[in-house]
Amino acid sequence: MGEILESRSPADASDVVGSFPAADAAAVGASVAAARRAFPAWHDAGLPERSAVLRRFAALVKERQEALARLIAREVGKALWDARAEAALVPAKVDVTLAEGMGLVAPLAAGAGARATFHPRGVLAVLGPFNFPAHLPNGHVVPALATGNTVVWKPSELAPAVAAWLGARWHEAGLPPGVLEIVQGGAEPGRALALHADVDGVLFTGSYAVGRALADATRDQPGKLLALELGGRNAIVVLADADLELAVAESALSICATTGQRCSCASRLFVAAEVFDAFTERLARVLRGVRFGPPLEEGVFMGPLVSRAAWEKLARYRALRAEAGAEVVLAGECALPPPFAAPGLVRFRGLRQTHPYQRDEIFGPEAALYPIDGLEAAIEAVNDSDYGLVASIFTRDRSAYERAIGRVRTGLLHWNRGTIGASGRLPFGGLRRSGNDRPAGLFSTLYCTWVQSHLEHAGGLDPASLPPGMPRP
Ligand code: NAD
Repeated sequence: MGEILESRSPADASDVVGSFPAADAAAVGASVAAARRAFPAWHDAGLPERSAVLRRFAALVKERQEALARLIAREVGKALWDARAEAALVPAKVDVTLAEGMGLVAPLAAGAGARATFHPRGVLAVLGPFNFPAHLPNGHVVPALATGNTVVWKPSELAPAVAAWLGARWHEAGLPPGVLEIVQGGAEPGRALALHADVDGVLFTGSYAVGRALADATRDQPGKLLALELGGRNAIVVLADADLELAVAESALSICATTGQRCSCASRLFVAAEVFDAFTERLARVLRGVRFGPPLEEGVFMGPLVSRAAWEKLARYRALRAEAGAEVVLAGECALPPPFAAPGLVRFRGLRQTHPYQRDEIFGPEAALYPIDGLEAAIEAVNDSDYGLVASIFTRDRSAYERAIGRVRTGLLHWNRGTIGASGRLPFGGLRRSGNDRPAGLFSTLYCTWVQSHLEHAGGLDPASLPPGMPRP
């Protein structure tokens, strides 16, 4: 009898969400083999037939979106408003992939006798994170299937029930056997799947540490596509002329959404010295008032962290504040037991960002304020990071923001919008430790395919085309 993966709600450890057999290496191998067998027929089915299955899946999810939202809230502790927003993204991904993503991989005409065509890679492994247990794996699965690949999906061990729920909808939608296999479990089956010799590509969303381990481990498999969507240490810049009410509201949302557990959450706030005290005071007031509690309760903004381990990690970083030179504005004391956590806020006097407390991805509701003197200093401070996912600039002066475009080294740069939130109609990815230059979002169809270029000629030999010295046959 293999290992059983038991999923418990982080908000209530007595609530068992489900039990699932964890896959061992043999089970992973069997799923890869099933996906390989299913590949030729799924590929040959053509886009219209594949689209019909995808659309049925989207319709089935839409019909039961509220059930999915409640399951997400229960299994990973995400507040209902947040879980509902995630559930809505699942069918939306199908729409945007079919309407726009497939356009990126349509045959490319390049004048007379030249074109390029795009082709599925074969069997793709999808490894998902816990924080968007439906939307993010779905963001790989949908384009992979639409472009004709088959998929083996290893969801987060913290969200097996959400994956099983979505798997059931795919089955109801009539997806042929083997086209999408789900293997449950943690690091071990994840690694076995990613390294499997018959997997053509690995689409990974998760931490830098695991992404790096996968890049190392697959170094001797150069033909294997590796698309890494990794972490962030995202920044907000508030210039002296910013609308402070807007900047405070968007900053609070960016710090606390999903209890600080989004790759796009903000944790470094660079605020003009002229408005620093006023901004700090207003932000602290908002953060103090944020309502946290049971995720399934209407009106709650923040649920618990996903696990006791996540809570302990946050506590370990908070214990480093003084050593890093931070002054505490909000300690983050919480009336509810772990893994509930209240927002923490600190301030630094200078712009040095050398301590791990300032540089690592903490992945909880914890942010640091730094005073800055003008746009140039802010750009430099934002770029002083090992990550490069999202940054936001608050200013009434559009030209100041425009000057930062392309100079702030992040995959996303927002103006008067917080760091969280993204358009499914745009690419989503980051630089440095945030990814490996294979942005997802709209661009995900690109890495799900390989491209073949063609020079084509329908007639016979044109002697004039022969270079000098080459005799005519
Ligand atoms: P994680 O890296 O711990 O786990 C991600 C997945 O990898 C899980 O399915 C896990 O079981 C699996 N895994 C763990 N060790 C493995 C190994 N050695 N080999 C193969 N697979 C392994 O990440 P998490 O805690 O689930 O998610 C949070 C992280 O994801 C954060 O760093 C966050 O910033 C990042 N994230 C990035 C994006 C993005 O789009 N860039 C989006 C969401 C989350």
